[in-house]
Amino acid sequence: MPPRSPDPASLSVEEDVLIVGAGIAGLVLALELHDAGIGCRVYEAVPDLGALGVGINLLPHSTRVLHRLGLGDALAEAGVVTRESVFFNRFGQLIYREPSGLYAGYEHPQYSIHRGDLQAVLLAAVRERIGEDAVVLGHRCAGAEQDENGVTVRFTGPGGDPLPSVRARVLVGCDGIHSVLRKQLHPDEGTPRYSGINMWRGVTKGRPFLSGASMVRAGWIDRGKLVAYPIRNLPDGDQLINWVVEIQTPRHLQRDWNRRGHLEDFIGPFEDWHFDWLDVPAMMRASETILEYPMVDQDPLDHWSVGRITLLGDAAHPMVPRGSNGAGQAILDAQALRNHLSGTPDPVTALRAYEAERLPATGQVVLANRSMPPDVIIREVWQRTGDRPFESIDDVIKVEELAAISQRYKEIAGYSAEALRDR
Ligand SMILES: Cc1cc2nc3c(=O)[nH]c(=O)nc-3n(C[C@H](O)[C@H](O)[C@H](O)COP(=O)(O)OP(=O)(O)OC[C@H]3O[C@@H](n4cnc5c(N)ncnc54)[C@H](O)[C@@H]3O)c2cc1C
Repeated sequence: MPPRSPDPASLSVEEDVLIVGAGIAGLVLALELHDAGIGCRVYEAVPDLGALGVGINLLPHSTRVLHRLGLGDALAEAGVVTRESVFFNRFGQLIYREPSGLYAGYEHPQYSIHRGDLQAVLLAAVRERIGEDAVVLGHRCAGAEQDENGVTVRFTGPGGDPLPSVRARVLVGCDGIHSVLRKQLHPDEGTPRYSGINMWRGVTKGRPFLSGASMVRAGWIDRGKLVAYPIRNLPDGDQLINWVVEIQTPRHLQRDWNRRGHLEDFIGPFEDWHFDWLDVPAMMRASETILEYPMVDQDPLDHWSVGRITLLGDAAHPMVPRGSNGAGQAILDAQALRNHLSGTPDPVTALRAYEAERLPATGQVVLANRSMPPDVIIREVWQRTGDRPFESIDDVIKVEELAAISQRYKEIAGYSAEALRDR
């Protein structure tokens, strides 16, 4: 017989802050709360946290938080300290190059890292600092009810069987793009919005290219755009190289981070991309994994918090992954929620203050990723040249204009050097 959930009123509060989801957001929030002396536990749907996903970038606004939490050495070992961002047209001609992270004078680095490695670093720190039982696996949140004293959270197991409910003072939904808690708080929200761009991602073992720590963006989405950067240094001198293809097309399937993709669906436009710094089709063919993902986001919500329940990370603000900000904004949310929960005794007031700080800021990033992500630099050149090779980039666009485009996005996403210095 399945265990019967007890009457919520008979339950004492078992968790101070109950976090749903052991992704990047949930694990960083646990580390933040623990650091502030606030009790918490993470409940994760999957029974086993394998190394899922491919590459992720962490920009200096979020690595500052992770370094404060004492994770700098572990990240530097697991990932690659990004040196520069480089933009090319589809003929392999250099458009623009700018230094990144430490190399751009920031106090903290930019990391390019496998999502699975990042999650493993965070999970190890949570278990070491908070305890082996700080993350409870195989618990899918099915919904929650609240009263004036707390929240009762319902769970099901991996087979869909009901598990005993858990009572908490505060509930935070870090349950990603298919968030159950977001659906509960916003039952009438419309369907996700497809951007018109489909994406394929892979990871290939290969020789270092350019500086050995360069993030490359090349081509444009009308035919095919490539993003490529190393995410792990291997003992034999090779690297794991993460690559992403973006193509403008009506063809797309539902959002699923683990959906397999097929080479023949996208390799066509890249067949002649044999650059002296990288053989693109060879890299794609040698990939260990190919995943397909539609660039989809959702309009910013008007609220995330209802009483003692709130949302954080992708559950709060799913965005198209075009500005390296998905994980970063989740980390900034976690820092903000920690500050408000530790500074305010009343949790309802704290959650409202957290939302007031983070909802408008992340809403701007969601919208900027739609209209003016950093790769607008290559769109500008593509438009001005009519998609043809140029003699000299100076004849097409001045370097100051390119730098200004890059700077505008940094300001919106909160990682301009000035903003980080002021904070
Ligand atoms: C499998 C996977 C692969 C990904 N791969 C990439 C990638 O390659 N590149 C990239 O840029 N981004 C990737 N992402 C997304 C990226 O991690 C997020 O955009 C960003 O880091 C914000 O993290 P998050 O914690 O809010 O969401 P996520 O990292 O998506 O974490 C959400 C967590 O909540 C859990 N969960 C979901 N529903 C429930 C529920 N009802 N009850 C309990 N737990 C629940 C999920 O299993 C997951 O562990 C991936 C996410 C996932 C889940």
